Amino acid sequence: MLTTILYIILVILILTTFYVVIRTIVFERSQGTVEKIEGIPVDEQQVAEHLAAAVRCQTVPLDEKGTPDPEAFQQLHKMLAETYPLVHEKLKRLVVNDYSLVYVWTGSRPDLEPVMLMAHQDVVSADPSTLAQWTYPPFEGRIVDGLIWGRGTLDIKNQLIGIMDAAEALLQQGYRPERTVLFGFGHDEETGGTNGCKVIGQLLKEKGIRLAGIVDEGGGITAGLAAGVRGPVALIGVSEKGYLTVEFTVNSQPGHSSTPPPQTSIGILSRALARLEAHPMPTHLRRLRPLYHGIGRAAPLFIQIPFANVWLFGPVLKRWLVPKPEMNASMRTTTALTIINGGVEDNTIPAEAKAIVNFRLLPGDTIAEVLWHVGKVIKDERVKFKPVEGKFNEALPVSPTNATAYKSLSQVIRQVFDNPPVAPFVMLGGTDCQHFVPVSDHIYRFTSVVMDESFRGLEHGIDERIPVEAMAKMVKFYAQLIQTWGTRDMTASKERSIE
Ligand SMILES: [Zn+2]
Repeated sequence: MLTTILYIILVILILTTFYVVIRTIVFERSQGTVEKIEGIPVDEQQVAEHLAAAVRCQTVPLDEKGTPDPEAFQQLHKMLAETYPLVHEKLKRLVVNDYSLVYVWTGSRPDLEPVMLMAHQDVVSADPSTLAQWTYPPFEGRIVDGLIWGRGTLDIKNQLIGIMDAAEALLQQGYRPERTVLFGFGHDEETGGTNGCKVIGQLLKEKGIRLAGIVDEGGGITAGLAAGVRGPVALIGVSEKGYLTVEFTVNSQPGHSSTPPPQTSIGILSRALARLEAHPMPTHLRRLRPLYHGIGRAAPLFIQIPFANVWLFGPVLKRWLVPKPEMNASMRTTTALTIINGGVEDNTIPAEAKAIVNFRLLPGDTIAEVLWHVGKVIKDERVKFKPVEGKFNEALPVSPTNATAYKSLSQVIRQVFDNPPVAPFVMLGGTDCQHFVPVSDHIYRFTSVVMDESFRGLEHGIDERIPVEAMAKMVKFYAQLIQTWGTRDMTASKERSIE
């Protein structure tokens, strides 16, 4: 009897191991290597000067609503016109709402759906209290020690200049795309894009134009973003998390603190908030699978095996990933308690207590589901809650990774940057892309910069800067992408279409 049981256990163990191995083999795969390309010749110093000149245009919003500074934008537009004469001669330039720019590079096959390359012209301001900490003033556009310094060099005037320089260089070579290529440069991304890209998106929709592919700012080529993976990975954002701010209010009988009720409005609200924090929305481990699947063999085996076998290793993976804020945020709708208010006097029981909680929705979770979850967790009718007007939007649709647009973008990244593993991820923050959901199913967020540790987190921060070399590489990347996406089938063709 005992030997039979042992025998059965042994067989189960062998079968399970076999299954785990098979699943791992099927899951992890090598992306192979693509042939490295030299790309178009780029004058590094010249490109650096272009970016520095763009940095000197202080396209900072004048207020929280994002009111643009007319002079700064006029200066930038003038700089672009002077720096890129061929682009301004051969492409159609549309000005939307005075400041946003759309360039139309009409292809030889106007029957094909256009593609669009994007960047935003606005930058965040430099906090006056930190100015003394900058090595060089944020809007001087200095080039020192092989670095271009200043606000916007990483977010995202580098992309604006990269696209423009690539286009100018291709035009010099007499290149014309088959497929129409649009450049979309909004002017108020940092404040929501409502007067810039939202309007551009609406215009495209009204004209019935659908886009075959969009690339905007997003993931770069970075190490250390996917837990457990050491080497650099190129991350393409295929979606953006949703946004939901909820206001919580508790009203109770005001009175003197000498004779308090068992619970005041502050106590009732605090209990609700503590419960919300203790019971976040559930994790969806499987949402991380495309990321690790993309990384494939570049990930160590101890990562590949559990992700290939979430059915078996799910609980272990969860325990490992939840304490890592970025990984946690990548696999669930997060809950962040951000504002609390209540009471004015130390000896008075307040009538009202209020709090604000900010949720970031994982694609797949809806605002209605989060609100239902909140009600279920709090289970207290004394706590009233409602979304704050204008402060919510659903997560964006997930763009496919088996589409030609994604595959060829991935191919170009590997050609230009020497074969990094390329993987999809969900952007934790927002971009102008949200405004193009009605006109395209293929929206990808990728910034073609290799970022080592020293450059991480400099966007919006002190001493924002980019290596001259990285800037030149960006021009090569866009030139290659235009020539790839600009073809009829959006794949790299050897035959260049020369006008
Ligand atoms: Zn940006």
